[in-house]
Amino acid sequence: MAKSPEEEHPHKAFGWAARDSSGVLSPFHFSRRETGDDDVTIKILYCGVCHSDLHTVKNEWGFTGYPVVPGHEIVGTVTKAGKNVKKFKVGERVGVGVLVGSCKTCESCQQDLENYCPQLIFTYNSHSQDGTRNYGGYSDTVVVDERYVLRFPDNLPSDSGAPLLCAGITVYSPMKYYGMTEPGKHLGVAGLGGLGHVAVKIGKAFGLKVTVISTSPNKEDEAINRLGADSFLVSTDPAKLKAAMGTLDYIIDTVSAVHPLFPLLGLLKVNGKLITLGLPEKPLELPIFPLVLGRKLVGGSDVGGIKETQEMLDFCAKHGITSDIELIKMEDINTAMERLAKSDVKYRFVIDVANSLSQ
Ligand code: NAP
Ligand code: ZN
Repeated sequence: MAKSPEEEHPHKAFGWAARDSSGVLSPFHFSRRETGDDDVTIKILYCGVCHSDLHTVKNEWGFTGYPVVPGHEIVGTVTKAGKNVKKFKVGERVGVGVLVGSCKTCESCQQDLENYCPQLIFTYNSHSQDGTRNYGGYSDTVVVDERYVLRFPDNLPSDSGAPLLCAGITVYSPMKYYGMTEPGKHLGVAGLGGLGHVAVKIGKAFGLKVTVISTSPNKEDEAINRLGADSFLVSTDPAKLKAAMGTLDYIIDTVSAVHPLFPLLGLLKVNGKLITLGLPEKPLELPIFPLVLGRKLVGGSDVGGIKETQEMLDFCAKHGITSDIELIKMEDINTAMERLAKSDVKYRFVIDVANSLSQ
């Protein structure tokens, strides 16, 4: 008979898990593997709440295995290091993002693009090489191969820096890859949530002009006066959209729900690029005419490799970029998830794990 999550491994662990597609999280006892030769064991301090956590706990993508402990924006301190570990020492502050394993030998892995490895192991809702289930950062401790662990720059705060481990790299990587960093060019950011608000800040750090495209008129003032956007378009206002047609060089689309691409493609100049990062539960319709007639490009991107994630963290530390967060206790997670579903967060919930996860 298979062992219970609590008995699978030698080290006791405690977190919050969803047990079914209601997505409701509750306390969950499980276990973590022994610190292997290449592993570090981490005491978790903070963990961001990504919309992917919400999609997963509600099984919106159809492949959630329960119980699931979400969380892939993890900041903590190393409590133990295996004998082969070179990058980290006990007591150091580190980060763990969306991936904790890959084959290490394929073309993608060799090019530091572990995020595209066919055998990629996600931080949660996945299995590790020994066949046991992986649990994420809404928990007190985690054991990770050092290859997938990030150095956390000294001047990045642990709480507001945590969301960079997913939201930050997810917007940074396509901006670099698709050549969306030329100072003076005009970037549109669709959806002002966790990913979107970091895209605004990173876009400004690259010297871009940034326009937010949002369904929430009440976010306009903050987008401009706090986050540094140059302008704000309400996507449900046809007159405003019409006036802005053909003005953007690039768009980063972070919308988490099914939405029309037609207006976004219309906002792009000839040769413009629309990069979709959101993962709605159903496919989007791709309008062909504006693509063909304007030689426009639609692309996608999935987080980033570990090397580039380190580069992004160092970039954010250098430019003073952090996430705007609402710090919550673990027991507030269900309310936070309900608010996240309604786009009611400014702009990322972060769980104060170490100060609220008592057994
Ligand atoms: P989030 O904080 O909930 O932000 C999403 C934003 O989308 C909302 O704040 C809202 O912005 C807008 N939105 C929501 N529903 C909408 C609708 N029906 N129509 C139009 N706009 C809507 O989510 P997030 O954490 O930034 O994640 C965004 C998406 O990216 C999720 O689907 C997530 O799973 C995915 N994701 C992908 C990757 C990747 O590697 N590609 C990585 C992480 C996350 P406004 O209020 O401004 O309209
Ligand atoms: Zn995420």
